[in-house]
This record gives sequence, structure tokens and C-alpha cells, in this order.
Amino acid sequence: MKGLGLYIHIPFCVKKCNYCDFYSLGCMAYEGIERYINSLCLHIDMEGKKYSKRQVDTVFFGGGTPSILSVEQIEKILNAIHHSFHLTKDCEITIEANPGTLTEEKAKSYKSIGINRVSIGLQSASDNDLKMLGRIHTFEDFKESYRLLSSAGIDNISVDVMYALPNQKTEDFIETVDRVCEFSPEHISAYCLKIEENTLFYKIRDTLSLPDEDEQYKMYITLCDRLKKMGYEQYEISNFAKPGKKSTHNMKYWLSRDYLGFGPAAHSCIDGGRYSYSESIEEYEKALEGGNEPKKIAEADTPLTKDEKIDEYVMLRLRLSDGVNVKEFEERFGISFDSRYKKNAMYEKNGYICKKNGAYAFTPKGFFVSNYILSDILENI
Ligand code: SF4
Repeated sequence: MKGLGLYIHIPFCVKKCNYCDFYSLGCMAYEGIERYINSLCLHIDMEGKKYSKRQVDTVFFGGGTPSILSVEQIEKILNAIHHSFHLTKDCEITIEANPGTLTEEKAKSYKSIGINRVSIGLQSASDNDLKMLGRIHTFEDFKESYRLLSSAGIDNISVDVMYALPNQKTEDFIETVDRVCEFSPEHISAYCLKIEENTLFYKIRDTLSLPDEDEQYKMYITLCDRLKKMGYEQYEISNFAKPGKKSTHNMKYWLSRDYLGFGPAAHSCIDGGRYSYSESIEEYEKALEGGNEPKKIAEADTPLTKDEKIDEYVMLRLRLSDGVNVKEFEERFGISFDSRYKKNAMYEKNGYICKKNGAYAFTPKGFFVSNYILSDILENI
């Protein structure tokens, strides 16, 4: 049985960024955070009893802004995890950190309490962009955070950047990429800005001057080329890693491996089922304080049909550069990939999909329009 992943949601931020629609709350009073951590620990204990035989090989503190917590608070959660689950010796333990919240004490303590991977949310090397995005930090803050983490001995650092920002040109974005590469992080994630409902950007969308599709394409392709030259392997649409430094935790999402989510809005995929918890910290805390499990929301009203399961498998695998191995697909589902997904051949002919090592995978230009291609391929079976 493959290792289990644990995702711990920390839904607090210093302030809401202008583009963000994740479930997170403005910074709460200290007591509020303590109450939430106690609920998390109760939940971890509850789930640990059910899955005590499983080995946990990844723990991911995501948010929100997990680095907002004090070291004692993170340690309390980690202690609860160690108490209730069996962690493998080389368990990947990641924390997401916002440069505006890291201190020397935190960086040093992360290492000593077992955190071995830090994912820094930078987004842009331009202070003007950072201000416009509503981030709480500057590029100098990022540099200082990186230095603190490296000096503390954290040798697995990921940096998040965003492209297609208002008024951004390809050369601006590539400058961010180059400035990040100067630090030589082990991993880089690059996301395209999407204007989501319930964000400040959505309210002012008509006033934002966003790069058109051609410019976005240029940004993405230049990013892929640049990072390849710098020794990063693109292993997923938005993720690039030095050899051996893929995110083991995030791979579980794309390979449909088992993971348990803790906290409001956290998702789980376990023993063939998928569910999440509602986006309400009050409901979450009340349930646990009353000795009950938080209410689960099933991700589908009815279990997936066999056809839906096959399509889901293809959709998730094609997010990865390794793609869909044809032989494995045929052995798993007892059908031929080529005869089921007939439109695939057309995209292969036009250079959006390629076949390598017996697997179909998107090329970089295919990744850029992968949503469109996937819906076309999957609709035409
Ligand atoms: S710090 Fe992250 S989670 Fe918090 S508001 Fe900004 S983007 Fe959203």
C-alpha cells in the first residue's frame, strides 16, 4: 500500500490578497487561532485511530498562511500527528510561508521540529506588482526569508510565481523568473493569474489591463524554455523541479493517491472516495469540540461510473509531463487508449501531444491549452 499524505489547512492570513479566493480569514485574535489548533489536534487524533496502520510519507501545511503560526503552534500540530500516525523516516514535511511572516527564529525552529521543505509565496519580483496584488511583502522581504531559511539548513525550497498579471509584459515576468533563479531554488511553481469571483480583482475587472492570450502564451513558453535551460524538469503544467525534487505531496493529487485533509475546505481522497469539509471554521470547531467528525461533503452525489473514472484518470495523468502510459492504461482499464480517445491523434499530429517512452503527454504548447484539448478529447469518445 502506498504512503498516506496529510494536508493541514491553516486558514489565516495577515490580510486578503486582491486575487485570492482560497478559504482564509483575516488574522484572528490569538485565542481564536489556539481554539482552531485544538480542533485540528482532536481531528488528527480521530483520523489517526482509523488509519493507524498506514505509513504517512508526506505532511503539507497549506493555507492561508501557515507561517503566521508561532513555532509552538506548528509544533503542537506536528506532535499530534506524530502521536496519531506513523511517519516514515524520510517523510516530506512542507510548510507554505509568506515572506512577510518569516523570522529568524521561525526559520531555525522549522528545521529543528522536522520541517524539511518550505514553499515560499513570492508571486513577483516587482514591488509594484506585489502592491497591486495586495501582498504584504516586498522582494527584499523574500530575499531575506530565503537567506534565513538557507542559513537554517532548509535545503528544499520551492518558490511560487504568477504570470499574466495586470500590465505585465513577457520581459517583466521573465525578469521575475531570472531573479528567482539566482537563488537556485529546488522547485518553482508558476501559476497564471485567474480572475476569480469573490475577489477584489473581480469587482474591478473592467479596469484591469490583462495580457492577451498571445502574450500569455509567450510568457508560458518562455518560462518553460528558460527553466529547462536552468536545469529544471517540468513535471506538471505549472511545476518545475531540479532532479529528485518533485513535490511528493502534490504528486499524490495528480496520481490519485491517498491523502487526508484537515480543516475547513480541506479535501481528502482516501480508499477510492473523495470528500471535503465545508468552508466554515465555526462548523468545523463545533463538531470536533462536541466529539463529532466534521461533516463531509462528498465530491460527487453518486459514485463515479466506470467511464467517468477512466476520464478522471486521463485528465489527472495528462497534467503530468509523464502523461498516460498506454500499456498501463490498457492493463488497468482493459481498453485501448487510441480507440477510446480518437481525437488524440489529431493533437499529436499538430504537436500539442507527443508520445515518448510509451506514454502520451502534452508538449509545452499543449499544456498551455490543455483545458481546451482535454474537453475536446474527452467529449469526443
Ligand atoms: S496569502 Fe495566500 S492564502 Fe492568504 S490571501 Fe494571499 S494568496 Fe490567499
